[in-house]
Amino acid sequence: MNVFKNYINGEWTESKSGKTFPNINPANTDETVGLFQSSTADDVNDACTAAVNAQSAWAALPATKRGEYLFKAAELLEARLAQLGEEMTREEGKTLPEALGEVKRAINIFRYFGGEGSRQFTYQVPSERENVVCYTIRKPLGTVALITPWNFPSAIPAWKLAPALVAGNTVVLKPASLAPLSAYRLVEALHETGIPPGVINYVTGSGGSVGDALTSNSAINAVSFTGSTSVGNALYEKVSPRKIRIQLEMGGKNPTIVLADSDLDYAADTLINGAFFSTGQKCTACSRAIIERSIYEPLVEKLVEKTLKLKIGNGLEPGVQIGPAVDEAQLKTDLDYIEIAQREGAQLLCGGKRLTGSSYDKGFFIEPTIFSAVNCEMRIAQEEVFGPVLALMPVDNFDEAMKLANDVRFGLSASIISKDLTRVHQFINQIEAGLITVNLPTAGVEYQLPFGGTKESSFGMREQGPQALDFYTETRTVYLKYTQ
Ligand code: NAP
Repeated sequence: MNVFKNYINGEWTESKSGKTFPNINPANTDETVGLFQSSTADDVNDACTAAVNAQSAWAALPATKRGEYLFKAAELLEARLAQLGEEMTREEGKTLPEALGEVKRAINIFRYFGGEGSRQFTYQVPSERENVVCYTIRKPLGTVALITPWNFPSAIPAWKLAPALVAGNTVVLKPASLAPLSAYRLVEALHETGIPPGVINYVTGSGGSVGDALTSNSAINAVSFTGSTSVGNALYEKVSPRKIRIQLEMGGKNPTIVLADSDLDYAADTLINGAFFSTGQKCTACSRAIIERSIYEPLVEKLVEKTLKLKIGNGLEPGVQIGPAVDEAQLKTDLDYIEIAQREGAQLLCGGKRLTGSSYDKGFFIEPTIFSAVNCEMRIAQEEVFGPVLALMPVDNFDEAMKLANDVRFGLSASIISKDLTRVHQFINQIEAGLITVNLPTAGVEYQLPFGGTKESSFGMREQGPQALDFYTETRTVYLKYTQ
């Protein structure tokens, strides 16, 4: 059995607890992918101390040199792409093509932010005064805590690590306990580049112990968190009195509006992609389809027909389109919501059950599920399920569609399917979402653009794209007179 260690001050170390926890394959619970350290507050403290001690020398390096470590790590990761994709499927359950795509994305993120070593734009503006130049500079924040979820176990750690490091911060990363191996591989690649000890530290263990100790540590100058709204909100309450910077990326209840002018096959395929791929376990997954009534019946018919043909199974098997839920608890949440929806009067059109028999019995497989006759008061229309469950809502016109789309507390991503440019622009202007797509699924974002939501989906500055550096740096303003 592979035992994976923490990475503290440039060394692979066991936890002082002497204990480990298993990382289980959700498609085959007979397989333990590896054992990871059940770390303690002492381990976290060591990691924070190492990070603090390494920070000033790291910040003093030219940013282009910091970027070179990311370029080198990207090369190492690329050479291992096949292995890392397979490992991700084993630990998280997503299909192999999805996993390979995610690792590739992490590599691209390292390259993109490696390039920020030679950009990190600031600005200069004319002064009101003679012989004075005014401009801004960026300073790193210091030591940053990075806390990540299981659903993008490589891309999310990558899009936090890379901008944090290139900006001159040192980091302590706590990955999700359900999928810590993918992040381990990023850290391993950075280690192999010869990155100075202490610049990056990786500590595994539960949110309640390691996450809590990390966000309580007074050495931490900022927290970047991605995960559930409940944990994010609690972290905000806890951290904000210290007046350190915090960035929260949380849940969604993302709508797709389908207008009557749409091609029905295209609309059905787009909905299926957004709602069911990655088992609906994307923060940007579509969970509400708001459809103009004149096309409702024929579109629903196509949607159900195509959904019933989806191949569900172990993501390592060729042709499988949808893997399992990540664990028993997530599967139970999915099934609970399916029961609640039926109790509240939604009409089950397809799916709704755990898959059983033969190899399904070894994993947490669930049928992609579609509900019709959903209204705004139902919990299935308001709460994040984080599984392959789609709620259909018929509407009479565009205005009603917009009203329903915005009638939730979340605002992460949203899409519209239509050829009507006027409606499309009205949608872009009126929708309450940070990520807006047109004739595309709600999910599927690119690293070179800012990422984040509105309302209760996000708090703080954007991740990814050049804006990511705004979170990881403090702006300082210089007024310089070049005469006396
Ligand atoms: P989660 O339960 O909130 O966990 C996220 C991370 O926080 C994990 O590393 C977790 O550790 C840690 N954690 C838990 N309790 C903590 C505490 N008290 N203090 C500090 N850290 C703590 O979320 P998840 O189930 O992993 O991920 C699914 C959620 O993430 C969904 O709601 C999804 O929408 C959201 N998400 C949002 C985005 C976005 O960008 N908006 C992207 C992806 C996912 P353990 O793993 O050890 O519990």
